[in-house]
Amino acid sequence: MVSLTSSPPADAELDLTAILARDLIRLDTTNYGEGRSNGETDAAEYVAAHLRGLGLAPELFDSEPGRTSVVARVKGRDSSRSALVVHGHLDVVPADPANWSVDPFGGVIKDGLLWGRGAVDMKNMDAMILASLTDIIGSGGMPERDLVIAFFADEEAGGVLGSGYLARERPELFAGATEAISEVGGYSITLAGRRAYLLQTGEKALIWVKLVARGSAGHGSRVHHDNAITRLAEAVAKVGRREWPIRLTDTTSQLLAELARILDVDPQRVGPDELALATGTAAGFIQASLRTTTNPTGLTAGYKHNVIPDTAEALIDIRSLPGEEDNVLAELADLVGPDIEIVIMHRDVGLETEFGGPLVDAVVETLGRHDPGAPVLPYLLSAGTDNKALRTLGIKGYGFAPLRLPADLDFPAMFHGVDERVPLDALVFGRQVLTDLLSKY
Ligand SMILES: [Zn+2]
Repeated sequence: MVSLTSSPPADAELDLTAILARDLIRLDTTNYGEGRSNGETDAAEYVAAHLRGLGLAPELFDSEPGRTSVVARVKGRDSSRSALVVHGHLDVVPADPANWSVDPFGGVIKDGLLWGRGAVDMKNMDAMILASLTDIIGSGGMPERDLVIAFFADEEAGGVLGSGYLARERPELFAGATEAISEVGGYSITLAGRRAYLLQTGEKALIWVKLVARGSAGHGSRVHHDNAITRLAEAVAKVGRREWPIRLTDTTSQLLAELARILDVDPQRVGPDELALATGTAAGFIQASLRTTTNPTGLTAGYKHNVIPDTAEALIDIRSLPGEEDNVLAELADLVGPDIEIVIMHRDVGLETEFGGPLVDAVVETLGRHDPGAPVLPYLLSAGTDNKALRTLGIKGYGFAPLRLPADLDFPAMFHGVDERVPLDALVFGRQVLTDLLSKY
């Protein structure tokens, strides 16, 4: 009798990175948003124990009970250099097991991949950070410069109870730091059969607004022109259908120029959207970085079938290009008209950092040693990360969680998607690249 299911590999057969990421996935740190969460304390204690094992002195911070972040300083060889923040978040978005082919919190290893919620976003990088510190410190060495290692709570709800809390309440933890690296960048894509890496050098602004329409309440059987739902529906349709114009920023201009060069096409003849599509799996991210988007994401109105309500509300998820935030809100007001009230629920800033300078050079050189000949391209993230909170302290953040991926894996689709999984050899690659970068930069 032949068993069709192979048993999972023993720890001795696994790289440390896979063990750490697997164990973190098994600690369910689901963040449901709006203050509801399983909490990050177990995961925080897990990473803190590993850091202590390396002789470091991590501190744990609870913004609220159960909402734990961890920060540790690592002394570098040259403390006259500015410190680098290397950060990850410990929470994950919810996963419905009914949609998954494995238990999302089982930490399943099969077919050479680690599966589970957080395998991509971002317990993979949490593990790579810990494993690379183990490589550097465990062998008696030191990173080149001082590091601030941070594992934040609450990133998936805007970082209010994690990076936002620590940046506001404990800025001294980040004293001397000028740059940061973290998630949603550093992974490889395939361009015309060739591997290339995306370095995230900017993030769009997030503005969450609520549209409120008012009218008069009344009986559902009457002729009634002052209907809040009709008024709101017209406004929502206009906002949802609005196609915001393509406007290239420094980051996206550079990216498109590089794509045109690599693909050997004339950027005057091939439009920005078409060039973005050539990036394959990353196109979803990149097309959204070429323009502002305003997606309706929620509708609330009414309480009985035969009663016209006096208010109706809609949620709009706005992702504005950096620097366009005020103009977008002004245009939105024009679009919905004076009868609709716009309530700003949450607003942050867009960021853009130059694709150049010593850290970017170090990233490009390091990737060049580990995957020779693969170009590194800047890109603007259509979403946001904890780098936004660090920017309030003057720290420039990049998305650099290095992963060399096979061409047939749709990695970008797995952020918040089902069957999140990461190849074990990509985790080893990430550990080696980070170790090399932190040892030399
Ligand atoms: Zn994330």
